[in-house]
Amino acid sequence: MRDHFELRDGDAAGRIGELSVPRAGVTVETPALMPVINPNIRTVAPARLESEFGAEILITNAYIIHTNEELREAALDDGLHEMLDFDGAIVTDSGSFQLAEYGDIEVTTREILGFQRDIGSDVGTPVDIPTPPDVSRAQAEEDLSTTEEALADAGAVETGEMLVNAPVQGSTYPDLREAAGRHAYATDLDVFPVGAVVPLMNSYRYAEMIDVVAGAKRGLGRDAPVHLFGAGHPMMFALAVAAGCDLFDSAAYAIYARDDRYLTVRGTEHLEDVEYFPCSCAVCSEHDPADLRALEDAERERLLAEHNLHVSFAEIRRIKQAIRSGNLLELVEARARSHPAMLDGYRALLDHADQLEREDPVSKGSFFYLSEDAPRRPEVRRHHERIGRVDAGERVLLTEGGKPSGDAYDAAWRVVPPFGPFPRALSETYPLTAEVPERLDRAAYEVAADGIARVVDANPDTSFVLAHSDWPASALERLPEGVGLENLRSDEQFE
Ligand SMILES: [Zn+2]
Repeated sequence: MRDHFELRDGDAAGRIGELSVPRAGVTVETPALMPVINPNIRTVAPARLESEFGAEILITNAYIIHTNEELREAALDDGLHEMLDFDGAIVTDSGSFQLAEYGDIEVTTREILGFQRDIGSDVGTPVDIPTPPDVSRAQAEEDLSTTEEALADAGAVETGEMLVNAPVQGSTYPDLREAAGRHAYATDLDVFPVGAVVPLMNSYRYAEMIDVVAGAKRGLGRDAPVHLFGAGHPMMFALAVAAGCDLFDSAAYAIYARDDRYLTVRGTEHLEDVEYFPCSCAVCSEHDPADLRALEDAERERLLAEHNLHVSFAEIRRIKQAIRSGNLLELVEARARSHPAMLDGYRALLDHADQLEREDPVSKGSFFYLSEDAPRRPEVRRHHERIGRVDAGERVLLTEGGKPSGDAYDAAWRVVPPFGPFPRALSETYPLTAEVPERLDRAAYEVAADGIARVVDANPDTSFVLAHSDWPASALERLPEGVGLENLRSDEQFE
Protein backbone atom coordinates (compact mmCIF):
# COMPACT_ATOMS: atom_id res chain seq x y z
CA MET A 1 0.00 0.00 0.00
CA ARG A 2 1.34 3.41 -0.97
CA ASP A 3 0.33 5.62 1.88
CA HIS A 4 1.03 8.91 0.10
CA PHE A 5 -1.82 8.38 -2.37
CA GLU A 6 -5.44 8.00 -1.32
CA LEU A 7 -8.37 7.37 -3.61
CA ARG A 8 -11.54 9.34 -2.87
CA ASP A 9 -13.95 8.68 -5.68
CA GLY A 10 -13.99 6.86 -9.00
CA ASP A 11 -15.71 6.42 -12.35
CA ALA A 12 -14.60 3.94 -15.03
CA ALA A 13 -10.85 3.66 -14.23
CA GLY A 14 -10.74 7.39 -13.47
CA ARG A 15 -10.42 8.60 -9.91
CA ILE A 16 -10.21 11.58 -7.63
CA GLY A 17 -7.25 11.11 -5.35
CA GLU A 18 -5.04 12.90 -2.88
CA LEU A 19 -1.31 12.85 -3.42
CA SER A 20 0.56 13.80 -0.25
CA VAL A 21 3.82 15.53 -1.05
CA PRO A 22 5.63 15.57 2.29
CA ARG A 23 8.60 17.69 1.36
CA ALA A 24 6.38 20.56 0.16
CA GLY A 25 3.96 19.95 3.02
CA VAL A 26 1.01 19.96 0.62
CA THR A 27 -1.67 17.59 -0.61
CA VAL A 28 -2.44 17.71 -4.31
CA GLU A 29 -5.89 16.70 -5.45
CA THR A 30 -5.81 14.55 -8.58
CA PRO A 31 -6.50 14.53 -11.50
CA ALA A 32 -4.06 17.44 -11.52
CA LEU A 33 -2.43 19.49 -14.21
CA MET A 34 1.20 20.47 -13.77
CA PRO A 35 2.21 23.47 -15.88
CA VAL A 36 5.73 23.01 -17.23
CA ILE A 37 8.07 25.83 -16.27
CA ASN A 38 11.09 26.33 -18.46
CA PRO A 39 13.55 27.88 -15.99
CA ASN A 40 14.85 30.12 -18.79
CA ILE A 41 11.50 31.33 -20.14
CA ARG A 42 8.64 32.02 -17.76
CA THR A 43 5.68 32.76 -19.99
CA VAL A 44 3.38 32.99 -16.96
CA ALA A 45 4.98 33.59 -13.53
CA PRO A 46 4.69 30.54 -11.23
CA ALA A 47 3.24 32.68 -8.41
CA ARG A 48 0.38 33.63 -10.73
CA LEU A 49 -0.14 29.99 -11.71
CA GLU A 50 -0.84 29.36 -8.05
CA SER A 51 -2.95 32.42 -7.21
CA GLU A 52 -4.91 32.90 -10.46
CA PHE A 53 -5.11 29.43 -11.99
CA GLY A 54 -5.18 27.25 -8.89
CA ALA A 55 -2.07 25.23 -9.80
CA GLU A 56 -1.11 23.04 -6.83
CA ILE A 57 1.86 21.43 -8.52
CA LEU A 58 4.21 22.27 -11.37
CA ILE A 59 7.10 20.62 -13.14
CA THR A 60 10.45 21.97 -14.23
CA ASN A 61 13.62 20.48 -15.61
CA ALA A 62 16.48 19.81 -13.19
CA TYR A 63 18.81 19.00 -16.07
CA ILE A 64 18.43 22.47 -17.59
CA ILE A 65 19.09 23.99 -14.16
CA HIS A 66 22.06 21.70 -13.59
CA THR A 67 23.74 22.55 -16.90
CA ASN A 68 23.33 26.34 -16.52
CA GLU A 69 25.82 27.72 -14.00
CA GLU A 70 23.76 30.73 -13.00
CA LEU A 71 20.57 28.71 -12.50
CA ARG A 72 22.47 25.95 -10.72
CA GLU A 73 24.03 28.34 -8.21
CA ALA A 74 20.70 30.08 -7.60
CA ALA A 75 18.87 26.78 -7.11
CA LEU A 76 21.53 25.43 -4.73
CA ASP A 77 21.74 28.68 -2.74
CA ASP A 78 18.09 29.66 -2.53
CA GLY A 79 16.26 26.43 -3.27
CA LEU A 80 13.91 25.70 -6.12
CA HIS A 81 10.81 27.07 -4.41
CA GLU A 82 12.33 30.46 -3.83
CA MET A 83 13.97 30.53 -7.23
CA LEU A 84 10.66 29.90 -8.98
CA ASP A 85 8.56 31.73 -6.36
CA PHE A 86 6.12 28.84 -5.95
CA ASP A 87 4.84 27.34 -2.66
CA GLY A 88 3.08 24.27 -4.05
CA ALA A 89 4.68 20.97 -5.02
CA ILE A 90 7.49 21.02 -7.60
CA VAL A 91 8.31 18.00 -9.72
CA THR A 92 11.63 17.90 -11.54
CA ASP A 93 12.53 16.01 -14.69
CA SER A 94 16.00 14.52 -15.04
CA GLY A 95 17.20 15.13 -18.57
CA SER A 96 15.75 11.92 -20.00
CA PHE A 97 13.99 14.03 -22.62
CA GLN A 98 17.31 15.62 -23.60
CA LEU A 99 18.86 12.14 -23.68
CA ALA A 100 16.18 11.01 -26.10
CA GLU A 101 16.53 14.15 -28.23
CA TYR A 102 20.32 14.46 -28.36
CA GLY A 103 21.46 10.90 -27.61
CA ASP A 104 23.73 11.82 -24.72
CA ILE A 105 23.64 13.70 -21.42
CA GLU A 106 26.29 14.42 -18.86
CA VAL A 107 24.72 13.15 -15.66
CA THR A 108 23.89 9.81 -14.10
CA THR A 109 20.76 8.93 -12.13
CA ARG A 110 22.70 9.12 -8.86
CA GLU A 111 24.10 12.58 -9.66
CA ILE A 112 20.89 14.13 -10.95
CA LEU A 113 18.72 12.69 -8.17
CA GLY A 114 21.19 13.97 -5.58
CA PHE A 115 21.03 17.36 -7.28
CA GLN A 116 17.23 17.33 -7.31
CA ARG A 117 17.28 16.57 -3.59
CA ASP A 118 19.79 19.37 -2.94
CA ILE A 119 17.78 22.04 -4.75
CA GLY A 120 14.60 21.14 -2.86
CA SER A 121 12.60 19.24 -5.48
CA ASP A 122 9.48 17.55 -4.09
CA VAL A 123 9.32 14.77 -6.68
CA GLY A 124 12.57 13.77 -8.41
CA THR A 125 13.16 11.68 -11.51
CA PRO A 126 15.90 9.18 -12.46
CA VAL A 127 17.47 9.08 -15.93
CA ASP A 128 15.27 6.57 -17.71
CA ILE A 129 15.24 5.79 -21.42
CA PRO A 130 12.15 7.21 -23.16
CA THR A 131 11.90 4.62 -25.93
CA PRO A 132 9.89 6.04 -28.83
CA PRO A 133 7.00 4.20 -30.54
CA ASP A 134 7.57 1.59 -33.25
CA VAL A 135 11.14 0.56 -32.36
CA SER A 136 12.03 -3.13 -32.61
CA ARG A 137 11.03 -5.29 -29.71
CA ALA A 138 14.70 -6.06 -29.00
CA GLN A 139 15.42 -2.34 -28.75
CA ALA A 140 12.43 -1.75 -26.47
CA GLU A 141 13.55 -4.60 -24.19
CA GLU A 142 17.14 -3.41 -24.07
CA ASP A 143 16.07 0.16 -23.21
CA LEU A 144 13.71 -1.17 -20.60
CA SER A 145 16.45 -3.03 -18.80
CA THR A 146 18.48 0.21 -18.72
CA THR A 147 15.46 2.01 -17.25
CA GLU A 148 15.11 -0.75 -14.66
CA GLU A 149 18.77 -0.22 -13.69
CA ALA A 150 18.05 3.49 -13.34
CA LEU A 151 15.18 2.68 -10.96
CA ALA A 152 17.50 0.47 -8.91
CA ASP A 153 20.08 3.30 -8.79
CA ALA A 154 17.32 5.70 -7.74
CA GLY A 155 16.34 3.36 -4.93
CA ALA A 156 19.92 3.50 -3.63
CA VAL A 157 20.08 7.32 -3.46
CA GLU A 158 19.40 8.94 -0.09
CA THR A 159 16.44 11.10 -1.15
CA GLY A 160 14.95 11.93 2.26
CA GLU A 161 11.34 13.10 2.03
CA MET A 162 11.55 13.72 -1.70
CA LEU A 163 9.19 11.46 -3.64
CA VAL A 164 10.75 9.76 -6.65
CA ASN A 165 9.27 8.97 -10.05
CA ALA A 166 9.48 5.43 -11.43
CA PRO A 167 8.93 5.85 -15.18
CA VAL A 168 7.16 3.07 -17.07
CA GLN A 169 8.53 2.57 -20.58
CA GLY A 170 8.17 -0.17 -23.20
CA SER A 171 7.46 1.68 -26.45
CA THR A 172 4.29 0.53 -28.26
CA TYR A 173 4.38 -2.99 -26.78
CA PRO A 174 1.51 -3.21 -24.26
CA ASP A 175 2.93 -6.39 -22.69
CA LEU A 176 6.30 -4.67 -22.11
CA ARG A 177 4.44 -1.70 -20.59
CA GLU A 178 2.67 -4.15 -18.30
CA ALA A 179 5.94 -5.82 -17.28
CA ALA A 180 7.53 -2.38 -16.76
CA GLY A 181 4.56 -1.31 -14.63
CA ARG A 182 4.85 -4.43 -12.50
CA HIS A 183 8.57 -3.91 -12.04
CA ALA A 184 8.19 -0.21 -11.17
CA TYR A 185 5.39 -0.95 -8.73
CA ALA A 186 7.57 -3.49 -6.92
CA THR A 187 10.18 -0.82 -6.14
CA ASP A 188 9.89 1.58 -3.21
CA LEU A 189 9.47 4.52 -5.60
CA ASP A 190 6.42 6.70 -5.46
CA VAL A 191 4.91 8.15 -8.65
CA PHE A 192 4.59 6.35 -11.99
CA PRO A 193 4.99 8.35 -15.19
CA VAL A 194 3.96 6.54 -18.36
CA GLY A 195 6.73 7.81 -20.58
CA ALA A 196 7.43 8.50 -24.25
CA VAL A 197 3.80 8.84 -25.32
CA VAL A 198 4.27 12.35 -26.76
CA PRO A 199 5.05 11.06 -30.29
CA LEU A 200 1.79 9.08 -30.18
CA MET A 201 -0.20 12.13 -29.12
CA ASN A 202 1.50 14.43 -31.60
CA SER A 203 0.50 12.12 -34.44
CA TYR A 204 -3.05 11.63 -33.07
CA ARG A 205 -2.47 7.92 -32.34
CA TYR A 206 -4.84 8.03 -29.36
CA ALA A 207 -5.92 4.40 -29.68
CA GLU A 208 -2.34 3.21 -29.26
CA MET A 209 -1.82 5.67 -26.44
CA ILE A 210 -4.77 4.06 -24.65
CA ASP A 211 -3.38 0.54 -25.27
CA VAL A 212 -0.04 1.64 -23.81
CA VAL A 213 -1.69 3.18 -20.73
CA ALA A 214 -3.92 0.14 -20.24
CA GLY A 215 -0.82 -2.08 -20.38
CA ALA A 216 1.01 0.01 -17.78
CA LYS A 217 -2.09 0.07 -15.55
CA ARG A 218 -2.36 -3.73 -15.60
CA GLY A 219 1.13 -3.92 -14.15
CA LEU A 220 0.69 -1.15 -11.58
CA GLY A 221 -1.34 -1.50 -8.41
CA ARG A 222 -4.54 0.46 -8.12
CA ASP A 223 -3.01 2.75 -5.50
CA ALA A 224 -0.21 3.88 -7.84
CA PRO A 225 -0.47 7.54 -8.88
CA VAL A 226 0.00 7.60 -12.66
CA HIS A 227 1.42 10.54 -14.60
CA LEU A 228 0.84 10.62 -18.36
CA PHE A 229 4.15 12.24 -19.17
CA GLY A 230 4.00 15.02 -21.77
CA ALA A 231 0.21 15.00 -22.08
CA GLY A 232 -0.92 18.60 -22.13
CA HIS A 233 -3.81 18.94 -24.57
CA PRO A 234 -7.17 19.40 -22.81
CA MET A 235 -8.92 17.54 -25.64
CA MET A 236 -7.62 14.21 -24.34
CA PHE A 237 -7.63 14.72 -20.56
CA ALA A 238 -11.04 13.06 -20.05
CA LEU A 239 -10.06 10.02 -22.12
CA ALA A 240 -6.78 9.62 -20.26
CA VAL A 241 -8.42 10.06 -16.85
CA ALA A 242 -11.01 7.41 -17.72
CA ALA A 243 -8.09 5.08 -18.51
CA GLY A 244 -6.67 5.72 -15.02
CA CYS A 245 -4.21 8.61 -15.38
CA ASP A 246 -3.93 11.03 -12.45
CA LEU A 247 -1.32 13.62 -13.41
CA PHE A 248 -0.76 15.61 -16.58
CA ASP A 249 1.90 18.13 -17.48
CA SER A 250 1.37 20.94 -19.91
CA ALA A 251 4.16 22.52 -21.86
CA ALA A 252 1.54 22.84 -24.59
CA TYR A 253 0.00 25.98 -23.06
CA ALA A 254 3.22 27.92 -23.70
CA ILE A 255 4.54 26.14 -26.80
CA TYR A 256 1.22 26.49 -28.62
CA ALA A 257 0.90 30.15 -27.58
CA ARG A 258 4.28 30.88 -29.13
CA ASP A 259 2.86 29.64 -32.48
CA ASP A 260 -0.42 31.59 -32.12
CA ARG A 261 -2.32 28.40 -31.41
CA TYR A 262 -5.47 28.52 -29.29
CA LEU A 263 -6.40 25.39 -27.34
CA THR A 264 -9.97 24.21 -26.93
CA VAL A 265 -11.46 20.99 -25.59
CA ARG A 266 -12.38 20.13 -29.17
CA GLY A 267 -8.93 20.65 -30.66
CA THR A 268 -6.49 23.41 -31.61
CA GLU A 269 -7.26 26.56 -33.61
CA HIS A 270 -4.88 28.98 -35.24
CA LEU A 271 -5.53 32.48 -33.99
CA GLU A 272 -5.67 33.77 -37.57
CA ASP A 273 -8.64 31.44 -38.27
CA VAL A 274 -10.67 32.36 -35.19
CA GLU A 275 -13.40 34.96 -35.46
CA TYR A 276 -15.17 34.21 -32.18
CA PHE A 277 -13.70 32.93 -28.92
CA PRO A 278 -15.72 29.94 -27.59
CA CYS A 279 -14.53 30.65 -24.06
CA SER A 280 -15.37 32.93 -21.18
CA CYS A 281 -12.00 33.06 -19.41
CA ALA A 282 -10.55 36.41 -18.39
CA VAL A 283 -8.58 36.70 -21.64
CA CYS A 284 -11.44 35.78 -23.96
CA SER A 285 -13.94 37.97 -22.09
CA GLU A 286 -11.78 41.04 -22.40
CA HIS A 287 -10.50 40.56 -25.95
CA ASP A 288 -11.81 39.43 -29.27
CA PRO A 289 -9.56 37.58 -31.73
CA ALA A 290 -8.82 40.74 -33.75
CA ASP A 291 -7.65 42.52 -30.56
CA LEU A 292 -5.23 39.69 -29.80
CA ARG A 293 -3.88 39.59 -33.34
CA ALA A 294 -3.10 43.31 -33.13
CA LEU A 295 -0.96 42.99 -29.99
CA GLU A 296 2.83 42.90 -29.75
CA ASP A 297 4.23 39.35 -29.99
CA ALA A 298 5.20 38.96 -26.33
CA GLU A 299 1.89 40.26 -25.03
CA ARG A 300 -0.13 38.12 -27.45
CA GLU A 301 1.91 35.05 -26.49
CA ARG A 302 1.33 35.66 -22.79
CA LEU A 303 -2.43 36.15 -23.21
CA LEU A 304 -2.77 33.07 -25.43
CA ALA A 305 -0.79 31.07 -22.87
CA GLU A 306 -3.15 32.29 -20.16
CA HIS A 307 -6.21 31.28 -22.16
CA ASN A 308 -4.59 27.90 -22.89
CA LEU A 309 -4.07 27.41 -19.14
CA HIS A 310 -7.60 28.52 -18.28
CA VAL A 311 -9.18 26.07 -20.71
CA SER A 312 -6.89 23.27 -19.47
CA PHE A 313 -7.61 23.82 -15.77
CA ALA A 314 -11.34 24.19 -16.50
CA GLU A 315 -11.33 20.81 -18.23
CA ILE A 316 -9.64 19.21 -15.22
CA ARG A 317 -12.36 20.66 -12.96
CA ARG A 318 -15.07 19.45 -15.36
CA ILE A 319 -13.55 15.96 -15.27
CA LYS A 320 -13.50 15.92 -11.45
CA GLN A 321 -17.15 16.97 -11.39
CA ALA A 322 -17.96 14.24 -13.93
CA ILE A 323 -16.30 11.67 -11.65
CA ARG A 324 -18.33 12.94 -8.69
CA SER A 325 -21.53 12.85 -10.74
CA GLY A 326 -20.77 9.44 -12.22
CA ASN A 327 -20.86 10.56 -15.85
CA LEU A 328 -17.21 10.55 -16.84
CA LEU A 329 -17.79 8.19 -19.77
CA GLU A 330 -20.51 10.52 -21.11
CA LEU A 331 -17.91 13.30 -21.04
CA VAL A 332 -15.34 11.07 -22.77
CA GLU A 333 -17.95 10.21 -25.36
CA ALA A 334 -18.63 13.91 -26.03
CA ARG A 335 -14.90 14.60 -26.38
CA ALA A 336 -14.55 11.57 -28.66
CA ARG A 337 -16.90 13.31 -31.08
CA SER A 338 -14.45 16.17 -31.56
CA HIS A 339 -11.99 14.31 -33.78
CA PRO A 340 -11.98 10.88 -35.49
CA ALA A 341 -8.68 10.02 -33.77
CA MET A 342 -10.30 10.75 -30.40
CA LEU A 343 -13.13 8.41 -31.39
CA ASP A 344 -10.49 5.75 -32.03
CA GLY A 345 -9.11 6.47 -28.57
CA TYR A 346 -12.55 6.02 -26.98
CA ARG A 347 -13.15 2.80 -28.89
CA ALA A 348 -9.74 1.54 -27.77
CA LEU A 349 -10.73 2.39 -24.19
CA LEU A 350 -13.88 0.28 -24.61
CA ASP A 351 -11.71 -2.59 -25.86
CA HIS A 352 -10.47 -2.60 -22.25
CA ALA A 353 -13.99 -2.62 -20.78
CA ASP A 354 -13.17 -5.65 -18.59
CA GLN A 355 -10.25 -3.78 -17.08
CA LEU A 356 -12.38 -0.68 -16.51
CA GLU A 357 -15.17 -2.79 -15.05
CA ARG A 358 -12.95 -3.94 -12.20
CA GLU A 359 -12.67 -0.36 -10.94
CA ASP A 360 -15.98 1.11 -12.06
CA PRO A 361 -18.36 1.82 -9.14
CA VAL A 362 -21.39 -0.46 -8.84
CA SER A 363 -23.78 2.48 -8.74
CA LYS A 364 -23.48 6.06 -9.97
CA GLY A 365 -25.43 8.72 -11.87
CA SER A 366 -27.81 7.83 -14.71
CA PHE A 367 -26.33 5.92 -17.62
CA PHE A 368 -26.93 7.98 -20.78
CA TYR A 369 -26.96 6.09 -24.04
CA LEU A 370 -25.32 8.56 -26.44
CA SER A 371 -24.00 6.53 -29.38
CA GLU A 372 -23.60 3.09 -30.86
CA ASP A 373 -20.44 2.77 -28.73
CA ALA A 374 -22.44 2.80 -25.48
CA PRO A 375 -23.30 -0.94 -25.64
CA ARG A 376 -19.59 -1.70 -25.15
CA ARG A 377 -19.38 0.24 -21.88
CA PRO A 378 -18.29 -1.64 -18.75
CA GLU A 379 -21.70 -1.18 -17.11
CA VAL A 380 -23.37 -3.25 -19.85
CA ARG A 381 -20.71 -5.92 -19.54
CA ARG A 382 -21.20 -6.08 -15.78
CA HIS A 383 -24.95 -6.41 -16.17
CA HIS A 384 -24.47 -9.36 -18.51
CA GLU A 385 -22.19 -11.04 -16.01
CA ARG A 386 -24.65 -10.56 -13.16
CA ILE A 387 -27.75 -11.51 -15.05
CA GLY A 388 -26.02 -14.72 -16.09
CA ARG A 389 -26.10 -15.73 -12.41
CA VAL A 390 -29.87 -15.29 -11.86
CA ASP A 391 -32.06 -18.39 -11.63
CA ALA A 392 -34.88 -17.87 -14.14
CA GLY A 393 -37.54 -20.53 -13.38
CA GLU A 394 -39.27 -22.78 -15.94
CA ARG A 395 -41.05 -20.59 -18.47
CA VAL A 396 -39.98 -17.00 -18.81
CA LEU A 397 -41.22 -14.24 -21.08
CA LEU A 398 -38.61 -11.62 -21.96
CA THR A 399 -40.55 -8.59 -23.10
CA GLU A 400 -39.98 -5.06 -24.30
CA GLY A 401 -43.67 -4.33 -23.86
CA GLY A 402 -46.65 -5.44 -21.77
CA LYS A 403 -47.35 -8.72 -20.02
CA PRO A 404 -49.22 -11.45 -21.84
CA SER A 405 -52.84 -12.07 -20.99
CA GLY A 406 -53.26 -15.36 -19.16
CA ASP A 407 -50.57 -17.04 -17.12
CA ALA A 408 -48.59 -19.07 -19.58
CA TYR A 409 -45.34 -17.90 -17.99
CA ASP A 410 -43.76 -18.17 -14.55
CA ALA A 411 -42.25 -14.73 -14.93
CA ALA A 412 -42.12 -11.81 -17.33
CA TRP A 413 -38.73 -10.10 -17.38
CA ARG A 414 -38.16 -6.70 -18.92
CA VAL A 415 -35.85 -6.30 -21.90
CA VAL A 416 -34.10 -2.96 -22.41
CA PRO A 417 -31.46 -2.63 -25.13
CA PRO A 418 -28.48 -2.56 -24.82
CA PHE A 419 -28.66 -4.30 -21.43
CA GLY A 420 -30.96 -7.12 -22.41
CA PRO A 421 -33.19 -8.96 -19.94
CA PHE A 422 -33.67 -8.54 -16.18
CA PRO A 423 -36.33 -9.32 -13.57
CA ARG A 424 -38.73 -6.41 -13.05
CA ALA A 425 -37.61 -6.05 -9.45
CA LEU A 426 -34.27 -4.72 -10.72
CA SER A 427 -35.89 -1.97 -12.81
CA GLU A 428 -34.91 0.81 -10.42
CA THR A 429 -31.32 -0.29 -9.93
CA TYR A 430 -28.25 1.10 -11.69
CA PRO A 431 -27.57 0.91 -14.63
CA LEU A 432 -31.08 -0.22 -15.61
CA THR A 433 -32.43 3.25 -14.91
CA ALA A 434 -30.54 4.30 -18.07
CA GLU A 435 -31.82 7.02 -20.37
CA VAL A 436 -31.98 5.40 -23.80
CA PRO A 437 -33.09 7.10 -27.04
CA GLU A 438 -36.18 5.84 -28.81
CA ARG A 439 -34.36 5.58 -32.13
CA LEU A 440 -31.79 2.98 -31.19
CA ASP A 441 -29.07 1.69 -33.46
CA ARG A 442 -28.48 -1.91 -34.38
CA ALA A 443 -25.61 -2.32 -31.89
CA ALA A 444 -27.99 -1.82 -28.95
CA TYR A 445 -30.23 -4.71 -30.05
CA GLU A 446 -27.29 -6.94 -30.87
CA VAL A 447 -25.75 -6.49 -27.44
CA ALA A 448 -29.17 -6.99 -25.81
CA ALA A 449 -29.36 -10.30 -27.72
CA ASP A 450 -25.97 -11.21 -26.26
CA GLY A 451 -27.45 -10.52 -22.81
CA ILE A 452 -30.30 -12.91 -23.57
CA ALA A 453 -27.74 -15.51 -24.67
CA ARG A 454 -26.03 -15.19 -21.27
CA VAL A 455 -29.31 -15.81 -19.45
CA VAL A 456 -30.23 -18.76 -21.68
CA ASP A 457 -26.78 -20.21 -21.21
CA ALA A 458 -27.12 -20.02 -17.43
CA ASN A 459 -30.61 -21.56 -17.46
CA PRO A 460 -30.51 -24.50 -19.88
CA ASP A 461 -33.77 -25.99 -18.60
CA THR A 462 -35.86 -22.82 -18.93
CA SER A 463 -37.99 -22.11 -21.97
CA PHE A 464 -37.74 -18.46 -23.07
CA VAL A 465 -39.89 -16.37 -25.35
CA LEU A 466 -38.71 -12.94 -26.46
CA ALA A 467 -41.44 -10.39 -27.17
CA HIS A 468 -39.63 -7.70 -29.10
CA SER A 469 -40.53 -4.57 -31.06
CA ASP A 470 -39.23 -5.23 -34.55
CA TRP A 471 -35.67 -6.10 -33.67
CA PRO A 472 -33.29 -6.12 -36.64
CA ALA A 473 -32.40 -9.50 -38.13
CA SER A 474 -28.76 -9.00 -37.12
CA ALA A 475 -29.85 -9.05 -33.45
CA LEU A 476 -32.34 -11.93 -33.76
CA GLU A 477 -29.63 -14.02 -35.42
CA ARG A 478 -27.52 -13.73 -32.29
CA LEU A 479 -30.15 -15.38 -30.08
CA PRO A 480 -29.51 -18.98 -29.04
CA GLU A 481 -31.62 -21.66 -30.63
CA GLY A 482 -34.83 -22.48 -28.85
CA VAL A 483 -35.75 -18.91 -27.84
CA GLY A 484 -39.34 -18.35 -29.01
CA LEU A 485 -40.13 -15.06 -30.73
CA GLU A 486 -43.14 -12.77 -30.67
CA ASN A 487 -43.07 -9.47 -32.50
CA LEU A 488 -44.98 -6.94 -30.39
CA ARG A 489 -45.61 -4.79 -33.45
CA SER A 490 -47.54 -7.54 -35.22
CA ASP A 491 -49.03 -9.63 -32.42
CA GLU A 492 -52.13 -8.44 -30.59
CA GLN A 493 -52.11 -10.85 -27.67
CA PHE A 494 -49.89 -8.37 -25.81
CA GLU A 495 -51.42 -5.23 -24.43
ZN1 LIG B 1 -10.29 31.80 -23.00
